[in-house]
Amino acid sequence: MADRIIIIGGAIMGSSLAWWLTELGHPPGAITVVERDPTYAACGTAFSNSCIRQQFGNPLNVAISRFGVECIKNFQMIMGDDRVPPVHFHPFGYMYLADTPAMADHLRRVQAIQTKAGAATRLMDPDALAAEYPFYNLDGILLGSHGAENEGYFDGTTMFDWWRRLARERGVTFLADTVTAIDTRGGRIGGVTLASGNTAGADIVVNVAGTRGAQVARMAGLDLPIEARKRYTWVFEAARPLDRDLPLTIDPSGVHVRQDGAGYMVGAKPDPDPAVDPDDFGGDWSIWEDKVWPALATRIPAFEEIRVRRAWVGHYDYNTFDQNAVVGPHSDLPGFFSLNGFSGHGLQQSPALGRGLAEYLTQGSYRTLDLTPLGPDRIRAMTPFPETAVI
Ligand SMILES: Cc1cc2nc3c(=O)[nH]c(=O)nc-3n(C[C@H](O)[C@H](O)[C@H](O)COP(=O)(O)OP(=O)(O)OC[C@H]3O[C@@H](n4cnc5c(N)ncnc54)[C@H](O)[C@@H]3O)c2cc1C
Repeated sequence: MADRIIIIGGAIMGSSLAWWLTELGHPPGAITVVERDPTYAACGTAFSNSCIRQQFGNPLNVAISRFGVECIKNFQMIMGDDRVPPVHFHPFGYMYLADTPAMADHLRRVQAIQTKAGAATRLMDPDALAAEYPFYNLDGILLGSHGAENEGYFDGTTMFDWWRRLARERGVTFLADTVTAIDTRGGRIGGVTLASGNTAGADIVVNVAGTRGAQVARMAGLDLPIEARKRYTWVFEAARPLDRDLPLTIDPSGVHVRQDGAGYMVGAKPDPDPAVDPDDFGGDWSIWEDKVWPALATRIPAFEEIRVRRAWVGHYDYNTFDQNAVVGPHSDLPGFFSLNGFSGHGLQQSPALGRGLAEYLTQGSYRTLDLTPLGPDRIRAMTPFPETAVI
């Protein structure tokens, strides 16, 4: 008999996993996704800026994003259903700017890693930057690093919708309920208890609970170094729009801004950046006046005159140990798996990580990309597998 799999969390990562499991032959009737908020209004997926890049410091993350782009470009074919629409992709590239020799050295180091892993990252000196992107104020800038291909905005909502919809059509159960306890009697997974008072038996439980990943792990007696961290986003219109696409520009201050249709989107993190409750959506909007707008108007003087249209606070599922995903089996609890800790790059990783964990669960090992280095046992062993390029 096939393993009964319970996926805790049905947002983009849980839905990707559910669909890939069915695609790789796991009987849909043996898969249940439990989701505490089926409106998905407050999860990380709902607040995402929905961009993909190749400029990572860890070659496995470059490979993960390379499959992400393949999936974006060929979504209908991969899903095998004529009803699936194309996924809109606006490849304006990412532009990292360095204003210290140490930052410039870092960009050079990771560019070598990226190009070796197949990314089209090019380094640009200030003259090259000024020629191609005359709207930047380059005072103090020593180097830029631009992704010439396969980086930009993609419509993650469409991917999420179709993974969920087709998984359900194939027979996966999506249950609107909250997992409140995990049965680990006998030292292995036996099932879950739900807020409704019901219980459900399971051979395998996968923790895909986003910012609540540590809370769910604790139900199984395990620790995960994952915290909810606030991230701010503003959408604005400029009185003088730029005459060409704005790459997703990561200013040395950490403020990042990109094209958003005819307008622009800017994001930033608070300083300090404490762990918060996943239900805390309160914002300290002084960050706009004190940090974000000054950095923006300095780097791109055309943005001195802008009108903010919308703003929101969302949460990263931030891995404090090494800022990288935690994916795979926990060897001290047979049957318990993690798909957590994406630290701000989970949307673009949902194709490769959903597929990878589905391979592991259906075939006993990774078949395409080897995700073993992302395994949770690295945390207990205190051997980080870091991602250094976190935005
Ligand atoms: C402002 C912002 C910008 C971002 N920009 C990007 C970007 O440009 N590119 C990128 O790749 N990534 C980006 N990210 C990160 C990305 O959005 C997340 O990594 C990704 O959406 C995580 O998806 P998830 O399904 O793992 O988690 P979530 O979307 O957080 O979903 C977890 C789900 O689990 C459910 N759940 C939790 N506990 C339980 C329980 N006990 N029982 C039942 N259900 C439960 C929750 O209700 C939720 O629906 C951004 C994130 C934010 C906040």
